[in-house]
Amino acid sequence: TKARVVIIGGGFGGASAAQMLRDVTPNIEVTLIEPKDRYIACPFSNLVVSGERDITAQHFHYDGLRARGITVIQDKATDIDPVKQTVRLSNAQHSVPYDRLIMSPGINMRWGAIEGYNEAAATHMPHGWTAGQQSQFLAAQLQAMENGGICVISVPRAPYRCPPGPYERASLIAYYLKTQKPRSKLIILDAKNSFSKQALFEQAWAEHYGDLIEWRGSADDGIVSRVDADTRAVFTDFETIKADVANIIPPQMAGSIAAKSGVTDSTGWCPIDATSFESRLQDNIHVIGDAAIATPMPKSAFAANLQGKLCAIAVARLLSGLATEPTTLTNTCYSYVTPDTAVSITGVYQNNDGQFTQVQGAGGTSALDNPRTSRKAEAIQAADWFTAITQDAFG
Ligand code: FAD
Repeated sequence: TKARVVIIGGGFGGASAAQMLRDVTPNIEVTLIEPKDRYIACPFSNLVVSGERDITAQHFHYDGLRARGITVIQDKATDIDPVKQTVRLSNAQHSVPYDRLIMSPGINMRWGAIEGYNEAAATHMPHGWTAGQQSQFLAAQLQAMENGGICVISVPRAPYRCPPGPYERASLIAYYLKTQKPRSKLIILDAKNSFSKQALFEQAWAEHYGDLIEWRGSADDGIVSRVDADTRAVFTDFETIKADVANIIPPQMAGSIAAKSGVTDSTGWCPIDATSFESRLQDNIHVIGDAAIATPMPKSAFAANLQGKLCAIAVARLLSGLATEPTTLTNTCYSYVTPDTAVSITGVYQNNDGQFTQVQGAGGTSALDNPRTSRKAEAIQAADWFTAITQDAFG
């Protein structure tokens, strides 16, 4: 009989793992469990927020996976039995048995970590950190805001999904405000004191947006401790800002099925062996993507896609009685600073002996003194990357 691999979560990590398992061997039955009928991608969703892109450009279906012989069950995993090695589903009566389980459930918000910021508050003060309705709420609020309004973006401490994402969003919102509502102000309240590609973002902000964007780090009263959803008030230690649009990106943790399955530690994320991606807490369960602790790799779609492929190969080897093998990994994150210019950061990593390490001297960011033509070229590369990675995962 064929070995059974079950994958929880049809995002960048899970879908990529499923496809790679199909690529490497016909001898494994591959089942993907995902509650949604379509995936709505976060990369490029900041362009939806700023009104540059239609949300349907973010939609991806699972027909391509089904056509390749992957069993896609449209249901939610509610429980794991790690002893019997089965996954319980929300709607179906039967459990799904596995020899090895791959989890890529993404993130859950830590509701209440910012006082007053719960699920209900997120309809008034959208996080926009899952794509779809949340991106559209935020877009609609920006559209409805008057010229001269105040938009606040609150950014959590690391680790969180997509380290440069909040600053790309700030750039694109600033572009919208500059061109449509130029008397408005954008305040970034940051729980950190520095951020990804900071010099590149600050250079672009000075060049394109003058003093429209104000960034306050943690040492400058940037930490948001409380919000009031009814009045859209945002509270720091020393100030209350009455926002017209409040984009609260709260602290996050691994998708809740991870904690239920006993694969999270006290941080709320999942410790793994970096070579096999197997949980350090439960045998035969592998965790990839945002949910996993893969520091110094960031929580990105690029990383989830690559981890999905490598995890699939590791699982196929383990099921054939072979040892897993370390390799070299990369990650590139593009960020738009205007709708037609972008900057990037690349890291190179290794996963020897169960640990991720960064290769010093490899990778880097776009150069500060690159000409505008190079920023434009990077925007085109970003769009090509999006086409390629979504084709790779869902195509
Ligand atoms: P996800 O893609 O979130 O997929 C998780 C899936 O699991 C979901 O489909 C969910 O429905 C499913 N699931 C959850 N629980 C269960 C359950 N119990 N049972 C079954 N299924 C379940 N990354 C980049 O590389 N480049 C970018 O430019 C970029 N831009 C971004 C911009 C923004 C605004 C944001 C928010 C993120 C951005 N990212 C970017 C990050 C990227 O979206 C994530 O890192 C990536 O989606 C992680 O993939 P994942 O598979 O871990 O999780």
